Amino acid sequence: MHPTEPMTPAPPIAAPRWRESTLMGGLGPAFGTCLPPSPLPGLHWVARSQALAAELGLTDWLQTAEALALLGGNTLPPVGATQASVYSGHQFGQWAGQLGDGRALLLGEVDSPAGVMELQLKGAGLTPYSRMGDGRAVLRSSIREFLCSEAMAALGIATTRALALVGSPAPVRRETMETAAVVTRVAPSFIRFGHFEHFAHTAADTGALRKLVDAVVDRFYPDCRGAASPALALLEAVSRRTAVLLADWQAVGFCHGVMNTDNMSILGLTIDYGPFGFLDGFDPGHVCNHSDHQGRYAFARQPNVAFWNLHALAQGLQPLVVADIGDDIDALKAAMEPYKTVFAETLQARLRAKLGLRAARPEDAELFDDLLRMMAQERTDYTIAMRALGRFSSADGALNTPLRDKFMDRDKFGAWAARYAARLRAESSLDAERAGRMDRANPKFVLRNHLAESAIRLAEGGDFSAVDSLLTVLQSPFDEHPQAPAAYAALPPDWAQQLEVSCSS
Ligand code: AMP
Ligand code: MG
Repeated sequence: MHPTEPMTPAPPIAAPRWRESTLMGGLGPAFGTCLPPSPLPGLHWVARSQALAAELGLTDWLQTAEALALLGGNTLPPVGATQASVYSGHQFGQWAGQLGDGRALLLGEVDSPAGVMELQLKGAGLTPYSRMGDGRAVLRSSIREFLCSEAMAALGIATTRALALVGSPAPVRRETMETAAVVTRVAPSFIRFGHFEHFAHTAADTGALRKLVDAVVDRFYPDCRGAASPALALLEAVSRRTAVLLADWQAVGFCHGVMNTDNMSILGLTIDYGPFGFLDGFDPGHVCNHSDHQGRYAFARQPNVAFWNLHALAQGLQPLVVADIGDDIDALKAAMEPYKTVFAETLQARLRAKLGLRAARPEDAELFDDLLRMMAQERTDYTIAMRALGRFSSADGALNTPLRDKFMDRDKFGAWAARYAARLRAESSLDAERAGRMDRANPKFVLRNHLAESAIRLAEGGDFSAVDSLLTVLQSPFDEHPQAPAAYAALPPDWAQQLEVSCSS
């Protein structure tokens, strides 16, 4: 460029389009407390989800120092007031009373190409609901939440998202001294079953509860608006969404770990990643949370726990239902009833896809059950075996030797494989075409505990490269990723069995 030529100014970076919070903010002071985040020293990026940034139109903004300061809690958004919300809930089957956002702070709402989204900082400091906690989150658990949020989204499972992970050298005491981190979570709403339970249990009148239901219905469940009891219609709609979520969890082998009612999203999203885990060897009794001594939230119990949690939500909505249509327990029960059929039908559909079956047949349930029972007996690695099933040949049994070798009882597998091959031939399934479909239903990569742990150990020493490379692979878990470290798709090493994850986060 000639020195006298005028310079064209760089185009301005598109910042988030903040707006007054219409949901939590709009509800008023009964629903929470406005307060700023508590600043942290030495903020630095640990990881960012470029995929989510692109969806939100924030790719360039996420490179700025302004974004780092804001998402670390050191500055405030230009519009609205940051706030912590109050909720209650049942924890491990017991009424726990008031809880609330003890370390999460709603930054505000942004208008984005993906719709209106709430941005929330997790680990942003003390709030009136922190109880005995310090309001902080540690790097270790924040890496787990960040990676798994993005992994679940890429698996096609409803979840809150994670835009960024900011670290700080500030010390945080857990079992040992660790350091602080802040995750920016993104979702249309972070409202939980526990919000409804809170106002049903604590408010003398139903005004606040009504306001909350109306706001949630207006924004997210408009079809419920015209019902004789919108609260009852909401219960049914949430039951259906929760059923789909649980079918997705069970199909992929995801164990949440802390399915308390304060960790259940009213939108049917996976929320609050703590001591979660993906099954390695298939084990219906697997308890991923070391603090869950009774095994209440064991893998195979999750669908029943979700139904129990819906009953807690029903209790929370009951005062409104009574006001709308009278005291009708049967109506509440009927509203939750679809959970059972939607869960069963969705899980069957997911398993059909995982086995590459196009049409539903009555004998399929037994085919699925027998496969899973065989895996449970042998603790077959769930992700690896399911992915390998995509290479199954219904035309030439000799090609199935590598798959058969994943099972100890080869005769038993052989008998099951003969039934499966016959079932595939009955719908004229072609091996090559089916393999392509099955590879979109059986992920090659899930966030196994030991993979997260290895990335955490490096990150605690200041090397975030493994967080990044895991994120890359987990953001397209159905692709082959030939360049990825072999360990990402391999059996867990022996030391993985000693890993314990607990509520400490
Ligand atoms: P969780 O089991 O992580 O879902 O948390 C249950 C409740 O404890 C929620 O109200 C959290 O906000 C709160 N909580 C968890 N950890 C902390 C912490 N370090 N500081 C303040 N509150 C916390
Ligand atoms: Mg929680």
